[in-house]
Amino acid sequence: MPNHNGGRLKRGILAGGASITINILLLGIATDAEAQTQPPEIGTATVGTATKAEALAPKKQKPPQIDQQLTGPRTRVSGTWVGHQSVPASTPILVMAGHADSQAMHGAGTPGAAVDLHGAAPMDPTMRDELYWNRLVRDAVVSNGQLRGLNIKAYDPGTLSIPNAEDPRTNWSVARSQSTKGDYILEIHFDAYSPYGFGSGLIPAINRMPNRLDESLAISFGRFPRLFRGGLGGPRRGISILEIGMLEGKLETSLRDPKTREATIQSIAHRISQSLAVGMMMPSKASNQQPGEAGIAPRAMNPQTNPEVE
Ligand SMILES: [Zn+2]
Repeated sequence: MPNHNGGRLKRGILAGGASITINILLLGIATDAEAQTQPPEIGTATVGTATKAEALAPKKQKPPQIDQQLTGPRTRVSGTWVGHQSVPASTPILVMAGHADSQAMHGAGTPGAAVDLHGAAPMDPTMRDELYWNRLVRDAVVSNGQLRGLNIKAYDPGTLSIPNAEDPRTNWSVARSQSTKGDYILEIHFDAYSPYGFGSGLIPAINRMPNRLDESLAISFGRFPRLFRGGLGGPRRGISILEIGMLEGKLETSLRDPKTREATIQSIAHRISQSLAVGMMMPSKASNQQPGEAGIAPRAMNPQTNPEVE
């Protein structure tokens, strides 16, 4: 890794009676074959998944329309790993904003195409646009997840720049300690714009085997290689990195337009929290896969913002 000190960059998922039915419905999803053939996204109008989506929607809240085109293409390099291990429904989920402690230093995240290519002003002059959106999505995921009954909360380092990665307040430090306690750590990111970015998808934590939450998010957003760029600093410390999409085009425009901003954030958050809720109920699956076996990709070539490289 080129830089070691910077750039770190309740039980009750568903109302009781529904869960048995849901479990049966879920038995058929997320097979190995599906994982390798870009399955339909959760929440689409496919018969079967629509039923699940409806069943998992928060009570008294109509889920926003999920626009599959919103987040753009899935990662152009994809992994073959499968998250087999089931996750207890009471598992604490900790959601972080990527680059929350790395502003004005290496690994600050992508400025986005609007700022970098088209001369727009940053959303907030104290931070890269990626962090601005990462934080809003993080908080919306937590709110949405709590409505579903997930044991989910946000973490924020409380200051925008922490040069020492070993500082106990950094995302990395908190992730390392909490993941060893069994928490699921999810860090929200937007990828660099093209041609530097790769697209949407999940890079799972690599200090453990991929689990059903990783699997469900990968089904919904796409699947990066498990050892993307040789294994990033975050995943080594127990962070599963979710790239929402490249920060450009329709996705960035929808975020920046005040008329569509809130709906866009909510749509993304809904898709994430629904994936987590579905993953909680996916049964375990036997695996012969060995650690490090699947999804190794060459170190890649992103000279621009290296948003996730430390
Ligand atoms: Zn990032």
